[in-house]
Amino acid sequence: MTFFVPEQGEAPQHRGKLLVISGPSGVGKGTLINEVLPRLKDTTLARSATTRPMRDHEQQGCEYYFLTDDEFDRKVAAGEFIEHVRYGSSRYGTLASEVEANLDKGRNVILEIELEGARAVRRRLPEAVLFFIAPPNIGDLRKRLEGRDTETPADIETRLRRAEEELASQGEFDYIVVNDSVARAADELEESILDSLEGGAS
Ligand code: 5GP
Repeated sequence: MTFFVPEQGEAPQHRGKLLVISGPSGVGKGTLINEVLPRLKDTTLARSATTRPMRDHEQQGCEYYFLTDDEFDRKVAAGEFIEHVRYGSSRYGTLASEVEANLDKGRNVILEIELEGARAVRRRLPEAVLFFIAPPNIGDLRKRLEGRDTETPADIETRLRRAEEELASQGEFDYIVVNDSVARAADELEESILDSLEGGAS
């Protein structure tokens, strides 16, 4: 019997998986991802680009690559985005440079993006697995958005209007996790991701 022994430095035989985590603003996607990411092997979170103003606690190149509109336009023109959207008064986009090389090296990549972006990724990369984080109810979402104190009241209304469309789209997703408690939802998200890595709903 012969065994295939990969030589050192050789590319792994499998490509990583693209894990798209979506759901309305304020639902707690970021919190759940922060809980789950350290539990997953060979998995990385892609950093998006945005034109939205930096919040107090944020740093350039940490939560996002914060760009001017012109810088964003140049990246669009150069074809650097896998997807990009206008969301409220700002723009957001997934950079191919954050995704492709990692997948090629066999690393799984998580994208934390809104609905239009998730749809665009699915069209472009049908092998992506889509996870939807849902709030227990819309009232809970309003409370969270108001409680975090990072958006203006007008922004909160825009985000809640968009949330209604997002909630109606759940059927398009491979896995749905209700964020009723962070500990429980994080466990379920981890299980769903592990299931998808084993070939589950993809
Ligand atoms: P926030 O301003 O609260 O950081 O993000 C607003 C929304 O944009 C969130 O729902 C977030 O998931 C989404 N988002 C962040 N990065 C991207 C991206 O690269 N593409 C898309 N389509 N949405 C993104």
